[in-house]
Amino acid sequence: MQLKNLINFTLRDLENEIIILGEPKYRAGQIFSSLHKKNARSFDVISAIPVSLKEKLKENFFIPELKLLEVSDSVKFNTKKFLFELSENKRKYVFESVLISENGRNTICISTQIGCNVGCEFCATGKMGFSKNLSAGEIVQQVYEIISNTGIIPTNLVFMGMGEPFLNYANLLDALKILTEPYGLGVSSKKITVSTVGFTEKISKFADDISSEENRNLRNVKLALSLHSTDNGLRESIIPTSVRNRLPDIYNELVYFYRKTGNKITYEYIFFNGLNDSENDIKRLVKLSRMVPSNINIIPFHPIDFKLNKPLDIFNKEKDLNKLLSNKNLFHFIEKLKENKVTVNLRSSSGVDINAACGQLAVKKTQS
Ligand code: SF4
Repeated sequence: MQLKNLINFTLRDLENEIIILGEPKYRAGQIFSSLHKKNARSFDVISAIPVSLKEKLKENFFIPELKLLEVSDSVKFNTKKFLFELSENKRKYVFESVLISENGRNTICISTQIGCNVGCEFCATGKMGFSKNLSAGEIVQQVYEIISNTGIIPTNLVFMGMGEPFLNYANLLDALKILTEPYGLGVSSKKITVSTVGFTEKISKFADDISSEENRNLRNVKLALSLHSTDNGLRESIIPTSVRNRLPDIYNELVYFYRKTGNKITYEYIFFNGLNDSENDIKRLVKLSRMVPSNINIIPFHPIDFKLNKPLDIFNKEKDLNKLLSNKNLFHFIEKLKENKVTVNLRSSSGVDINAACGQLAVKKTQS
């Protein structure tokens, strides 16, 4: 019989498994708490349950190991990058997550896939191709291993690491349920943001799912759209999936998301000097910001070690962060948006020196 991965189960699903084993339902809460609050990594250390149940668990489940291979520390920023290894079907995979500590916040940037097949032109993960979806357990274990390694309890969780969360939807949703479950870490959903390049039917589905009574722990999860251009033509040239997921349709979905959840939207906007910073771009962003309550995060373009196609190739040469951040046009752009009462922030470039900033995560595909 094939053993099942015990970390992958939400509390509700674990309760069903425990009932099938002929045990009382409350045992699921004890097991869940040991795994997700106390980071138990063997059946024998789950102290609250009897030996007979431990034996049943061993016969039916396994607890996987997410191996932490390496931690890179930024010299310039209070940022750490974590390189993890997991084994599956005799193959080994490696992937990354990031912990950013700044302004009193400790934010873990979580990965949902190893690689990504969306292939955004500005993103190192997109350039490495797709290897695999991470399971719900592999997603939440990143958080537990970072806590265990650093002793730091995260104040915020952002699903902005490797991969497109909405292309691993079922595991994303289970991971959110596990992380917000009071028997586990009990993270407040107000502290969680999921970022997507925009898949039309997925945004409304996500709105329905997080606002359902069954998922009430998720109702304040925020959504970030990787926008980067309000011109669909330019967007198509840098985000290939935007050919099928056009901006007018995505905007309709965002309106639906806001009406359903009441949660405001964040627009992520990488600043490409001379490409997406015209007066028309500003006008369209101002109009968009009035569609539903929102804020815009402006992100300097962080160079990646891959050859880029037009129209972004010219932006990949500037490796000096000070020069990137002292760009007069960047500040003019931000000021113009502010003058128009747009809530706008310049996103940090924390971790750029260890390739841990936005868009820079990438590893070799697989190891054998
Ligand atoms: S930006 Fe996101 S969706 Fe685009 S390639 Fe990178 S990981 Fe994938």
